[in-house]
Amino acid sequence: MVAQHALPEISATEVPVLGGGLFPVRRVYCVGRNYLDHIREMKEADERDPPFFFQKPRDAVVVDGAMVPYPPFTSDFQFEVELVVALGRGGRDIAVADANHHIWGYAVGIDLTRRDRQRDARDMRLPWEVGKSFDASAPCGTIMRGSDPAHFEHCAISLSVNGVERQRGDIGQMIWSVPEVIGQLSKQVALGAGDLIYTGTPAGVGAVVPGDLIKAHIDGLPPLTITIAPPEA
Ligand code: MN
Repeated sequence: MVAQHALPEISATEVPVLGGGLFPVRRVYCVGRNYLDHIREMKEADERDPPFFFQKPRDAVVVDGAMVPYPPFTSDFQFEVELVVALGRGGRDIAVADANHHIWGYAVGIDLTRRDRQRDARDMRLPWEVGKSFDASAPCGTIMRGSDPAHFEHCAISLSVNGVERQRGDIGQMIWSVPEVIGQLSKQVALGAGDLIYTGTPAGVGAVVPGDLIKAHIDGLPPLTITIAPPEA
């Protein structure tokens, strides 16, 4: 007897790869605080705290060129430019020295945030989901194949809105390096091929409104451009 599906197939989430092909997304993880200057601008946390992680839904990923509708339930919709690591191999308790064997490639990402809801959650000691995990909240640029974190130890990361630079930092400012992030996260969950990890943002985060054109850039990677569209009816 052939099993009947109760619903039509739910569509996969895939990100284009530089040179052709598609990268299938399994899960989306984000590092909460990974640049000192951003921790300071948010006026939160002990600067020596270990990294912490949260997730976004897989289907929150949208690709280069996306129109991102201004989301409901916020009046302070903000950008955070981040280096995204795409895993080609999973595992538990991955040693920092082995982490690069699990990396498939890199991309530029934006961790879109309802900052007002994130602050409410922080003040009320509630989970972060409402501020971080919503539709289209995880733009991810075209993925470039490559597994060597050394390529991104010291390179510029920046974001502009309507041609005006708003964020600029260096990947070298990350408190926890890419291999350390993979090592720490793999102590908490079994990582898998297809996982994306957003590795945190430097200072300069700010709000956008419908019509804004956001360009995110990391040296050596394909740029990521999105446009904020009016709220969906
Ligand atoms: Mn972030």
